[in-house]
Amino acid sequence: MALGEFDIIAKYFTAAHHREDVVLGVGDDAAVVDLPPGHKLVAAVDTINEGVHFPAGTAAADIGYRALAVNLSDMAAMGAVPRWFTLSLSLPAADESWIREFAAGLFELSSEYDLELIGGDTVQGPLSISVQILGSVEADWLARSGGRAGDVIFVSGVPGEAAAGLRLIMEHDARAATLAGRHLLGRFLRPEPRIALGRKIRSVAHAAMDVSDGLLADLGKLCAASGCAARLDLEALPASPPMKSLFDGTRIESWQLGGGDDYELLFTVPAERLLEVEALVADEVRCTPIGRLLPGRGVQCCRGGEPVDVSAGGFDHFARGS
Ligand code: ADP
Ligand code: MG
Repeated sequence: MALGEFDIIAKYFTAAHHREDVVLGVGDDAAVVDLPPGHKLVAAVDTINEGVHFPAGTAAADIGYRALAVNLSDMAAMGAVPRWFTLSLSLPAADESWIREFAAGLFELSSEYDLELIGGDTVQGPLSISVQILGSVEADWLARSGGRAGDVIFVSGVPGEAAAGLRLIMEHDARAATLAGRHLLGRFLRPEPRIALGRKIRSVAHAAMDVSDGLLADLGKLCAASGCAARLDLEALPASPPMKSLFDGTRIESWQLGGGDDYELLFTVPAERLLEVEALVADEVRCTPIGRLLPGRGVQCCRGGEPVDVSAGGFDHFARGS
């Protein structure tokens, strides 16, 4: 190794200390931070591994960006403000240009949200990146368990785009270089954390979570946590022009339902507050009503009001580690 562990940390991961609430940052045995008065600490950690969560050969800057983005998405789902993060890096070799690019992607996103890296761990091993995100929220955090029968289910953005982008990458599809293809690749490589949306819906949403494993699976988790069933209206699922220009309807639907990696927000609101929700989210990303919570258990997909069995229709479960 050209660079030792301490050189790597000192050169690339001792970012300028800039937040006033960081009492002690990188360099000691642990970090010490101040929470804003009245806030609770919100913590989440996610690991991404080469070959499982991103294809081998993914650009280092995109890996750095994505490792933080997937964690920010968990803060968004809680309605929390992200503030600090720690980074555990397992690297096969101290390839300095790789580390430089990785750090550039990571800090590009962290500076957008004024986050400070306050510690971590650096070891040799297979390429694996763990980010722990730390944030805070007032008393009105969001959880998966608050949904009630009768709630309208919303999803932000266009679920399925990330899976379409991943498919273009995995199949070395030449259309990845088109305008539409580049948009879809970007949705996989650089998901946009819905932090502002999560903050805004705190006042109206009963339940929220982020979509990382696929809409159908994640809606099932929200239902289970809330003790509800759900009706999902297939024709209501949003699709984008880039998806529609490159793929047929059957594939699009399988990604809308089963594609992971979108990191959009799924949330439920009481039906009588729909207008309020629309006004609240108007300046943010498009949010689409896609069904209702009902008494009972499980998720039923419907087309034209009629129940359909999506598992029978060539539904691509997109089995992958997560
Ligand atoms: P310790 O022996 O106390 O676990 P280390 O020698 O692993 O500490 O790390 C020294 C300091 O560098 C600690 O403050 C740790 O948080 C920080 N650090 C190590 N790796 C990273 C990293 N990848 N990013 C940010 N800080 C790191
Ligand atoms: Mg120590």
